[in-house]
Amino acid sequence: MKIEIKHLNQYYGKKQVLHDINLTISTGMFGLLGRNGAGKTTLMKTLVTLLPVKEGEISMDGISIQKKKAIRSMIGFLPQDFSMYGNMTAYQAMEYLDVLSEIDSTTRKKRIGELLEQVNLSIHKHVKVKAMSGGMKRRLGIAQALLNDPKVLIVDEPTAGLDPEERLRFRNLLSEISEDKIVILSTHIASDIEAAAENIAIMDNGHIIFSESIEKLISQADGKIFTVEVPRTELKPVKEQVQVISLQQEGTLSKIRFIGNQHASIMNHPLVLQEKATLEDAYLYLLSEKGGKENGAISKRIFH
Ligand code: ADP
Repeated sequence: MKIEIKHLNQYYGKKQVLHDINLTISTGMFGLLGRNGAGKTTLMKTLVTLLPVKEGEISMDGISIQKKKAIRSMIGFLPQDFSMYGNMTAYQAMEYLDVLSEIDSTTRKKRIGELLEQVNLSIHKHVKVKAMSGGMKRRLGIAQALLNDPKVLIVDEPTAGLDPEERLRFRNLLSEISEDKIVILSTHIASDIEAAAENIAIMDNGHIIFSESIEKLISQADGKIFTVEVPRTELKPVKEQVQVISLQQEGTLSKIRFIGNQHASIMNHPLVLQEKATLEDAYLYLLSEKGGKENGAISKRIFH
């Protein structure tokens, strides 16, 4: 299974929001990372045929995206603003969907049972949707999106509003599903995809600014990430010199994680340590490089 996107442009009215998108996505988990407004939802809506393709080409398994019906039968989609009737139980919500209307009732029951089991909701199948936690709702959403046994599962910002434990459970569920499907996961949080995805694309301002392995992205930031501990009172001048990734306050000290800059005097501080880059570091480093080259306003763009 392969999704190929070639020279895709997308517009809302006259405003262009996707610019010459080129991507090849194969079986496994694929992370789409970018800040709010980067164009992730627009790209996903295009892939699930909710937005027509007028400029460029997309194919899935060799089938053109213009063949809407064939493409839709291959796709399961969990949108960001996914909602269900609160008064239905988990089981009813599954049964309600049109996808199943042509399937005989025995097969239907079996399929619903299997999917609720897979997303760990079997024991909650008679719980009403409105009584479910955010994580349970998302998992039910995944079960629904898998009803037609799609080859591609597309999930938009799935971890928004989930607590850390639910987040982890959800991530594990998606990586299990990605063993034999393409799972495309969009997020603005790097850690959502760090453990699960091998390949990612980073979007910014409607452009793909990186598409390769996570490993490659991280290697680009190797040697550029540092920490230093300074008294709180010295924090401000450091912030002015370098781009801060994170800050930890410990008593009167501030522990600062930042992107190195050879011209900054803080680099000569005796307590400066070089750190191993994480995906989050590498992502911010990439944005700062692009931002720096494009308009010089680095931190304002990143920490917006
Ligand atoms: P993301 O999912 O990465 O947050 P979106 O695809 O939602 O990004 O948005 C990309 C850009 O398109 C943003 O500038 C957003 O304001 C704009 N946009 C999104 N939806 C619409 C719409 N229906 N009409 C006009 N502009 C839109």
